Amino acid sequence: MSFLKLEGIKKTFGDIEVIKGVSFAAEKGEFVVFVGPSGCGKSTLLRMIAGLEDVSDGKLAIENRDVTYEEPAKREVSMVFQSYALYPHMSVFENMAFGLRMNKQPEDQIKARVLEAARILQIEPLLERKPRALSGGQRQRVAIGRSIVRNPKIFLFDEPLSNLDAELRTQMRVEIAKLHHNLGATMVYVTHDQVEAMTLADRIVVLRAGLVEQIGTPTELYDHPANIFVAGFIGSPK
Ligand code: ADP
Ligand code: MG
Repeated sequence: MSFLKLEGIKKTFGDIEVIKGVSFAAEKGEFVVFVGPSGCGKSTLLRMIAGLEDVSDGKLAIENRDVTYEEPAKREVSMVFQSYALYPHMSVFENMAFGLRMNKQPEDQIKARVLEAARILQIEPLLERKPRALSGGQRQRVAIGRSIVRNPKIFLFDEPLSNLDAELRTQMRVEIAKLHHNLGATMVYVTHDQVEAMTLADRIVVLRAGLVEQIGTPTELYDHPANIFVAGFIGSPK
């Protein structure tokens, strides 16, 4: 049984088909990376999994449940955005608690969950600060913390590190790998960065212009790229 299943997913904006039939299945606990050049449809695909964008055609299932037309909150997925999307007037604590408050969870449970996520991400000393008083890396941790507190079935990441400088990007990449190891959660991660894809992924889905070019482990793609495009993108000299 696959944990997340995409079957012939398509997306049309106006008369332009930007996702042209993507099929893919991820196992529970797998770290899947969607990689491809800018504009190939990575964010659109992720937003459809999250339910933030309607699917034009095809089927989406989580744990064998058809969620194609299910509202985002019921899918139990959570997305970390490139722009962090923190509420500027709220403290770090309140930013992380917000989603739980919306679900009317008891206050002591909310507090316990936020403190646990803050501990995992090592941002406990920052809980009373406002986002403007945080560095880029700290903001990204808060954005990840907001997902962790909700204990989603699937974590979705849309180029979460692309606003960070090179050094911090490497550091956060290692931390995301640790997080995946510690939580054992299913993660779908979008990037246009080959190094991120190769180091984080259990499996990589290479996208080009709304279609899957190849799916495989980093080693499979490196050793046996299906074509020049994959070879060029992943970096092996075919
Ligand atoms: P990526 O994340 O891989 O850079 P996107 O998923 O953002 O790519 O975009 C894929 C294509 O869909 C692009 O050509 C983009 O211009 C187009 N697109 C994305 N969102 C919309 C929208 N809301 N309306 C019209 N076109 C869109
Ligand atoms: Mg994008």
